Amino acid sequence: MKIGVLALQGAFIEHIHILKKIGVQATEVRLVKDLEPLNGLIIPGGESTTINKLAKMYDLILPVRRFAEKKVVWGTCAGMILLAKEIKGEPASLGVMDIVVERNAFGRQVDSFEEMLTISKLQNGNSKPFPAIFIRAPKLIEARNNAKIIARLTDGTAVAAIQNKLLATAFHPELSDDDRFHRFFLALATA
Ligand code: GLN
Repeated sequence: MKIGVLALQGAFIEHIHILKKIGVQATEVRLVKDLEPLNGLIIPGGESTTINKLAKMYDLILPVRRFAEKKVVWGTCAGMILLAKEIKGEPASLGVMDIVVERNAFGRQVDSFEEMLTISKLQNGNSKPFPAIFIRAPKLIEARNNAKIIARLTDGTAVAAIQNKLLATAFHPELSDDDRFHRFFLALATA
C-alpha cells in the first residue's frame, strides 16, 4: 500500500509521519510522475489558494482529477476546499467532490479550536470521540448526490463528508495523536 501526500505547501509532513507510524509507505507528491505508483493521495491543509496556484504551475490539476476518478483521495481543510465542486464566491479547483464549501467560515474570532466529534464511521466498537482540530477552517455548506456528511459539530455544522472513495474533512486529523481517520482512509484504499 503506497499513499502519497501532495507536498506543495502546508501540513504534508504531519500526514507522512502518521502514515509511516501505522506502517504505510508514504511519499511526497510534487510531480505528475509521483502519482503513478500510488494507491491513494492525501491533499493536506495549508492555504488553498497557494496549493491551487502551485498545482497549476506543476500541471497537476488534470492528473489529480483523473487519479480521483479511480483511486482514494482525502482532502483535509485546504485539501477539502480543493476537492469541492463549489467554493462560495470563488472558482473551483479540482472540483471532483459534490460538496459546497465556504472558506474561513468560522470567522476571525475563531481562528482555531478543538472539538471532540462522535463519528460513527470511525467507531468500530470504540466509542471514544475523535479530537478534531480546526485551523481557519472551511465550513461544509452542503453535500449533494453521492456525497454524504459523516461528521458534525454539536451545533450541527457539517465538517466531514464521503463520496465513494473521496473523503473530505474540514479539520486536521494529522495534528492529533489519534490515527483512526488515517486507518479509515487506508481501509477505503484497500476496499
Ligand atoms: N484557511 C485556509 C484556506 O482557506 C485553510 C486552512 C487550513 O488548511 N488549515 O485555504
